[in-house]
Amino acid sequence: MIEKQQNILIIGAGLCGSLLALRLGQRGYNVMVMEKRPDLRKVKISAGRSINLAFSDRGIKAMKLVGIKDKVRELCIPMNGRMIHDKEGNTFMSNYSGRDHEYINSISRGGLNALLLDEAEEHENVAIHFNKKCKSVDFENTTARFSDYLTNDDFIEDADIIIATDGAGSALRQSYYMGKKFLFSFSQEYLTHGYKELSILPTKEGDYKTFKNALHIWPRGDFMVIALPNLDGSFTVTLFLSYDQGEYNFNNLTSPKIVEEFFKQEFPDALELMPNLIDDFFENPTAPLGTVKCSPWHYKGNTLLMGDSAHAIVPFYGQGMNASFEDVVVFDAVLDKDLENWEAIFETYQRNRKKDTDAIADLAIDNFHEMKDHVANPIFQEKRKLEMAFEKNFPVDYSSKYSLVTFNEDIGYREAMLRGRAQDKAILNLISDGEIELPLPDQKKRLRPILEKVIKETEAILEDDRIAGLK
Ligand SMILES: Cc1cc2nc3c(=O)[nH]c(=O)nc-3n(C[C@H](O)[C@H](O)[C@H](O)COP(=O)(O)OP(=O)(O)OC[C@H]3O[C@@H](n4cnc5c(N)ncnc54)[C@H](O)[C@@H]3O)c2cc1C
Repeated sequence: MIEKQQNILIIGAGLCGSLLALRLGQRGYNVMVMEKRPDLRKVKISAGRSINLAFSDRGIKAMKLVGIKDKVRELCIPMNGRMIHDKEGNTFMSNYSGRDHEYINSISRGGLNALLLDEAEEHENVAIHFNKKCKSVDFENTTARFSDYLTNDDFIEDADIIIATDGAGSALRQSYYMGKKFLFSFSQEYLTHGYKELSILPTKEGDYKTFKNALHIWPRGDFMVIALPNLDGSFTVTLFLSYDQGEYNFNNLTSPKIVEEFFKQEFPDALELMPNLIDDFFENPTAPLGTVKCSPWHYKGNTLLMGDSAHAIVPFYGQGMNASFEDVVVFDAVLDKDLENWEAIFETYQRNRKKDTDAIADLAIDNFHEMKDHVANPIFQEKRKLEMAFEKNFPVDYSSKYSLVTFNEDIGYREAMLRGRAQDKAILNLISDGEIELPLPDQKKRLRPILEKVIKETEAILEDDRIAGLK
């Protein structure tokens, strides 16, 4: 069993690092956190990087673990479904679930991070230092080199273990890779699309200019705009667009005239809500989107990667932060096992967790195509209607892939992926083979045989997967 007085150094006080510091502080460890940016509770950090996020049940489970679920609720705006906007300005709502209590939330990244920092600092065994950038980690000797942005001094910190929660560009991961001291596998795949944040400001009276309780999507096949509400009446809008493909792309949207022409043609109703479009467009950065996978996450019992540093994913399932929070829940459960040393803890953690973070990485790519394109496709819409009807009428017997991933925090992402994909395939096969008649019946008793067909077909597909070794 490991003594509690051990010194743990956490690199990065973002969402994952501040939650981890709070949990390890609660467990009695001596925790020191080093963050490269200034303290976001004291300094306004520039906009342009996912100001708000979709927060759902896996994240909520982590908040329950550390006892701050109710405080976090106050920062949340429920989003019951996707509000789809077509080119003519028509809208329709597609709920996330047929069960009323299942919805996702929009939450401010800064607000949530600040709360987690406050809660972590309540523990006298947790110290958080800002403006300290980690430059490299000596994973053999469990030390890390930092540069102090305020004094320009370099210094070295020693610890019993180091956990890096320093995001997609992790210094520890870089040290593993550059060190070439063990077999470290690493992949990074960029999408051809990048993103830019824009905004819909509140009305003069401070109200929302469009429906508050939805994640708005303007799907256009190869690109899309989404908008999530903020507590102050504004929406954070994100344009996802190719860097260089298609008639309009980030590389050719170089003048106010072309940007306005693009929005007028593709998103006229959004443009009406965004008189500030041009300022936002040219002030805010365009950033790439990528998936990072690597293995192993740890070196012996000395160092460990967690959160985006271990598994950065594209944002289309709204799960990156939720997965990073779930990392802390899984890690905490491994600590409960009282294993003999850190190496055994890190190994068990990776063995339990990696299959699930690999799965959500792949699901997030699938959802990129679903959001920008499939949501506007009639067969997809029929499938969603059927799933909503199943969830509403048979809440215990059916959960769609989206529900399995988002609202079923007690099953892993991999299980959600395998079952969810099999269900999708089953429904689409049955619709295209004419085995499900459209339009769907209204009465519950006529829906039951359809559900039974879908369950049977799903089981057959899962059995094929098992035989093929996928499960
Ligand atoms: C456009 C976009 C939209 C997203 N939307 C969602 C969503 O809706 N829902 C969702 O669940 N997830 C979403 N995500 C993913 C989410 O942002 C990440 O998964 C989450 O922030 C990961 O948390 P983290 O703490 O691991 O990393 P980060 O939040 O990146 O935090 C890393 C921290 O480490 C610090 N740091 C970095 N390098 C160093 C260093 N060398 N030394 C010291 N400190 C360092 C950083 O300053 C930062 O504070 C989105 C991501 C993007 C890009």
